[in-house]
Amino acid sequence: MKERSRLEAVLAGKCPQCHEGDLFTHRWWNITKFDEMHKHCPHCELRYEREPGFFYGAMYISYALTVGIMLVGGFVIYRFFGDPEPLGYIIPVVGFSIVFVPFNFRIARILFIHLFSGVKYKKTKKHE
Ligand SMILES: [Zn+2]
Repeated sequence: MKERSRLEAVLAGKCPQCHEGDLFTHRWWNITKFDEMHKHCPHCELRYEREPGFFYGAMYISYALTVGIMLVGGFVIYRFFGDPEPLGYIIPVVGFSIVFVPFNFRIARILFIHLFSGVKYKKTKKHE
């Protein structure tokens, strides 16, 4: 089987160690369960929460993404919808941010575990 690159593992939400096991138990559009993660990698048994509260750091990434989405949304409204009254910005931008919550939450955790956990990729056989 072809090995996944780190980028492919990030995009697919895979384990930072084996690039095979899923991080999350459900797909991101499952709005009630998008935040549920496996405790251990189903493929290589890596423990995902590296220490208690490990994923709190992911909130900073999530915050930065939210600000980014708001800025882009604000720009798009300004550029393409003729600079409306303040509510014309606030309602769609807040709406966007809420729609993007599951996506943000997950990409923040995926990036965080890949960038800051210190876990290195190693090729692993499937754990039996
Ligand atoms: Zn793994």
